[in-house]
Amino acid sequence: MALIVQKYGGTSVGNPERIKNVAARVASYRKKGDQVVVVVSAMSGVTDNLIKMAKEIMPLPNEREMDMLLATGEQTTIALTAIALHAMDIPATSMTGAQAGIVTDGVHTKAKIQNITPKSVHHLLDAGNVVIVAGFQGQTMEGQITTLGRGGSDLTAIALAAALKADLCQIYTDVDGVYTADPRIVPQAKKLPEISYDEMLELASLGAKVMQSRSVEFAKKFGVVFEVRSSLNDNPGTIVKEETLSMEGVVIRGVSLDKNQAKVTLVAVPDRPGVAAHVFKAIAEANINVDMIVQNISHNQGAPSTDISFTVDKPDLLKAKKVIDSLKEKIGFRDVIADEAIGKLSIVGVGMRSHPGVAAKMFETLAANGINIDMISTSEIKVSVVIELTKGEQAMKVIHEAFLGK
Ligand code: ASP
Ligand code: MG
Repeated sequence: MALIVQKYGGTSVGNPERIKNVAARVASYRKKGDQVVVVVSAMSGVTDNLIKMAKEIMPLPNEREMDMLLATGEQTTIALTAIALHAMDIPATSMTGAQAGIVTDGVHTKAKIQNITPKSVHHLLDAGNVVIVAGFQGQTMEGQITTLGRGGSDLTAIALAAALKADLCQIYTDVDGVYTADPRIVPQAKKLPEISYDEMLELASLGAKVMQSRSVEFAKKFGVVFEVRSSLNDNPGTIVKEETLSMEGVVIRGVSLDKNQAKVTLVAVPDRPGVAAHVFKAIAEANINVDMIVQNISHNQGAPSTDISFTVDKPDLLKAKKVIDSLKEKIGFRDVIADEAIGKLSIVGVGMRSHPGVAAKMFETLAANGINIDMISTSEIKVSVVIELTKGEQAMKVIHEAFLGK
């Protein structure tokens, strides 16, 4: 008898028919004698729609109220999934994050899990129930409802798998696994049988959209091996695990395009010590994650000034701009420009460490296709460039072809 955690994303529970399919799959595991914990997302589009409604009322709604609002999406799906199992005569109980013992800090809309006490989950499993847990949500010690950041149901599943010491963790989504690129953009993309945590992390945080990056970090930290697979068929998926020697043989594991970044540029910032510290401290205090930062060389000999650009997640752009605007008088820069029309294209692979010339080949390929590079950043296992959003998909295709073939 195995304990299995299965997570179903928004598309997999997108309508009552699909929820019935989920119930059928859960039932097939249970018939084998396995104990199953199911983690579900909100039905596809629901979270976006809730956010949209709130923003129609005011552009920057209170974050505690946003958590109260967004948590309802997952609460709908847990109940419907339980009902679908009941319709098949399978005992099942739904639980909110709080009921499942998920305790978080108090950073609304981006809470971190502090600990999980899954006592009631174990009780219900032992009594023969399928347990269905609402993804993406938790509760503070003080009883406030929190959410874990967009895509946070993945984190719920991985963290529960660790806390329950599950034998197997399956992440069901609308793709067959992790591909060398998004197959909707690059039809030649191939499914990877396995991938290391670090590569997956780069691909996830770079917008491969298969999984939320924090959940992969968590899996790495706690050694949770998991499989990403489709809820629409029975094909084997991609296993995500610790790096093995054979993984180094491949130069590039995948190409990803992140359309969810935005760029903030401070124009003509006085070039003196402490300015960057000031800017990024204020941004950090507003709980905004910064990804790339570029500072140009200064111009104007007498009173040197420079431009500083950085990227943030698109939903944080308004907030970031507000923070920067509030610094204008103190720092004395000329202007701040917010640009949403960017895309970040990245190539990822642990094999880069032992194969030189990878970045050069990427830049050459972009140049040969007339695609201008706006910002560059590199790490041991990735090269990223910021380009114009409208060129994003074309760039992804030519880079995939250059490194991973037709
Ligand atoms: N429903 C949440 C979202 O759309 C969490 C999730 O789907 O994982 O971000
Ligand atoms: Mg999701």
